[in-house]
Amino acid sequence: MPPDETIFPVSTKAHADLYRMLPGIDELLRHPALVTEVARHGQAIVVVAARSVLDQLRAAITTGTLDERSMPAVLDGIPPAISREIAKRLAVSLRPVINASGVILHTNLGRAPLSAAALDHVREVSSTYSNLEFNLDTGERSKRDVHADRLFARLLSAGREVASVVVNNNAAAVMLALNSLAEGGEVIVSRGELVEIGGSFRIPDVMSKSQAILREVGTTNRTRISDYKKAINDRTRLLLRVHRSNFQIVGFTEQPSLEDLVKLGRERGIPVMEDLGSGAFFDLGRVGVEGEPTVSRSLRAGVDIVTYSGDKLLGGPQAGIISGDPALVARIRSNPMFRALRVDKMIYAALEATLLAYVREDYGSIPALQFLRVSPEELRARAIALKQQLESAGGISVDAVPCATAIGGGAAPGATVPSFALSVEVAGKSADGLASELRRGDPPIVGRIEEDRLLLDLRTVWPGQDRQVAEAILGLSRK
Ligand SMILES: *Cc1c(COP(=O)(O)O)cnc(C)c1O
Repeated sequence: MPPDETIFPVSTKAHADLYRMLPGIDELLRHPALVTEVARHGQAIVVVAARSVLDQLRAAITTGTLDERSMPAVLDGIPPAISREIAKRLAVSLRPVINASGVILHTNLGRAPLSAAALDHVREVSSTYSNLEFNLDTGERSKRDVHADRLFARLLSAGREVASVVVNNNAAAVMLALNSLAEGGEVIVSRGELVEIGGSFRIPDVMSKSQAILREVGTTNRTRISDYKKAINDRTRLLLRVHRSNFQIVGFTEQPSLEDLVKLGRERGIPVMEDLGSGAFFDLGRVGVEGEPTVSRSLRAGVDIVTYSGDKLLGGPQAGIISGDPALVARIRSNPMFRALRVDKMIYAALEATLLAYVREDYGSIPALQFLRVSPEELRARAIALKQQLESAGGISVDAVPCATAIGGGAAPGATVPSFALSVEVAGKSADGLASELRRGDPPIVGRIEEDRLLLDLRTVWPGQDRQVAEAILGLSRK
């Protein structure tokens, strides 16, 4: 018996033979299918994908799942396996989903979809050079702020001069404003407004990171103007009002009016700042949602500085906007932190086009507002049409049911707009299971579960997506 046979077990020798049957990278790169892949995607990704497929095959040989008999078929399958691996590695991770969750401004689903005009303007401005910071009249350097500032000034006509600057998001707007106006000094806030907005935006933490000292006044449910008065001292820099966003205080409650807060601020020479969160430019009372303040309303009440998001009720790109008294906005603008928080030309382009839609009162062109405005009757008709289309499919039971859509983004907490949903049931499958199947489909569909039923709320689904929703539901019974 040759010595090596006693040292190596028989199976190992067999493995070595199988390994030797695998092609090398150079040989694979000469295969016509992979020559095409290299021409299309470059050699580097093809080599990486080929190594990955070969590694998987070696692992299968080692574990014994691949034997000599299956080898010929496996070898033929290597080039297509490499092509699949290339496709997987080149696939995007960020992709569109159908939002049937019933939350119009869903932070996890990217909040406000952009309007067609916003997207066109982004493409137009960003695919080439632009006058982002260049004055075409004088040929001199200018500020990027001008593109949005002029439109905000027009839209926020509050009977006074208003200046605005744009930063990365509202969290940045709040931090920058607090740091610029109150660094080292005290900021008075009602205990009823020390909220956490979700994620990690907590007013007390933001305050300390802004180097301002939080001075809490009042109680969780009741704060009076006299509480603010008593807390004012020579270190007070700001009176802050915070929109409670995703949270409501009901029952025995009291909060001074904005007008009273502004009056106190004026008397003592202390600016009033309001973190509005959603920052509506559109009066939600028009769609039956009461109590959500608009940016104009706060400025008219005399608030010196308001901060709000670009991608909540405004319906534009992710941004944080600081609007108010020009002298204070100039102070905020001159903070060196501004440079670190400012936004790119794409955001200005999307914002400018979105604001122009407001100037033209073309609310229907802004998707978030359009989703808010669509009538329940129209949604009901679409839900019934889908139900009729799906009725004949075996194993699935689809119903058109009235439901309530939340606005989201912290706007009008607790308020909903009446909507219609498809309630979907498939024999032998749980609501959770169905939701998961739809999420993993193409395109992914995100629904919600209510009382053990899967609901697909049509308010945030484009009419043009109804067909895809129907196909996905039909697919549920086939799996
Ligand atoms: C949403 C919100 C924020 C944070 O805004 P982002 O745009 O998410 O950074 C801050 N304050 C309030 C009151 C909010 O509702």
